[in-house]
Amino acid sequence: MKSNFQIPYRFKKIFYHRDARNDELTRRVQEYFPHLPAEAVYREEDFLQMIQKIPLTEGKRYLWLTRYKGDFIKYCPGATQTAQTYRCCNYLVINEATNCPIECSYCFLQGYVTNPAMTIYTNYERIQEELRRLSASNPGRILRVGTGELTDSLALDPILRISEKLAATAADLPNILLEMKTKTNHVDHLLEMPYRRLVISWSVNPEWIVRHVEHKAAGLKQRLEAMKKTCDAGFLIGLHFDPIIYYRHWKEGYAELIGHLREAVSPDRIVWISLGSFRTPPALKENIRLRFPRTPILAGEQIKGRDGKMRYIKPMRAQMYRFIYQRLIEAFGKVYIYFCMESRDLWEAVLGQSPSHSGTVDYSFARSLYHKFPELGFPQPDVELYQRDIVIQQAHRVHVLWRSPETAPIEGRLLKQRMSF
Ligand code: SF4
Repeated sequence: MKSNFQIPYRFKKIFYHRDARNDELTRRVQEYFPHLPAEAVYREEDFLQMIQKIPLTEGKRYLWLTRYKGDFIKYCPGATQTAQTYRCCNYLVINEATNCPIECSYCFLQGYVTNPAMTIYTNYERIQEELRRLSASNPGRILRVGTGELTDSLALDPILRISEKLAATAADLPNILLEMKTKTNHVDHLLEMPYRRLVISWSVNPEWIVRHVEHKAAGLKQRLEAMKKTCDAGFLIGLHFDPIIYYRHWKEGYAELIGHLREAVSPDRIVWISLGSFRTPPALKENIRLRFPRTPILAGEQIKGRDGKMRYIKPMRAQMYRFIYQRLIEAFGKVYIYFCMESRDLWEAVLGQSPSHSGTVDYSFARSLYHKFPELGFPQPDVELYQRDIVIQQAHRVHVLWRSPETAPIEGRLLKQRMSF
């Protein structure tokens, strides 16, 4: 059935792998864009060879529909690559699509994707299977799993309706909390569905940054209106202050933003708020300069972190985090706030305490969810369980997504008593 929703992005052509020609998502895309030429691809290598010659900005205007052959659910790269250096939270990601029709100047995909086409994986049923296995393999543990790792979760969702399919699966599972992350206002189709155990999250920045940096994303006013609608409709809301960007009037900008957010969203519905400063691999900076020569995001003194990424210097990060954290507490009271990929000393400088490793952060998330949202029916978190590995069972094998660092049980018990965030 054709949706009435008009997405604000322009595409040139649809390519689909012949194996995906009869898949529901391929049909949905073709029905939504009946005017676009569509071409079947018989050999993926031929398509990739052709598309890789096209620059990213142009390449994003081609839709590529294909089946994903690997595992959809993975551990967040932040932890597998940098867990010893930065505190992570055992978040799991679903790569349901790769690339994005939005054009944020800071987007890491600019230095990551080799195929510039907007790629949609049509075999979403495999994601549903993986969610079921993940849930069954980790009983008693609350698992936070999010789409939108390599795309915007809702940019094309009014056409594809992947959120609804995954939310229906998660609704039957006792321990999965799904998160959709977006910079759009594409929420009307979500309001029609019966599932509410779903976190709709927005990446937020001051109006000035949205206008000068987050090209083709929804304006701040539109995002706030969408937040209010979803909040009023009973969904859980997440807010990501990520990336926090330094600019001349950052204090006024972030203070004003938090004021607007407080008007749009009730603290009762907020599951979590993340803080993460702008960070980028050095090579990506060159890409950014080439694609967005007038971007203001490269201001502010930066150093190379232990993970090789460029970050603002520590005193600047601490100052920005403290300012935003304080305003958030004043506006929202006791909400769950955490840092994304930050070092132990930054946690301590702002919150006065720091988690010893990812399992500790994971446990504190679970505890917060269990106590704040009893209606979700999640299992009561046991701290010992969160010191163990997360396991996923694929069709013919079992593998561990996350290896817990060696942690003395006594430390877990102490944390159980002390952790308050
Ligand atoms: S919305 Fe996310 S994925 Fe899309 S361009 Fe912006 S940062 Fe990249």
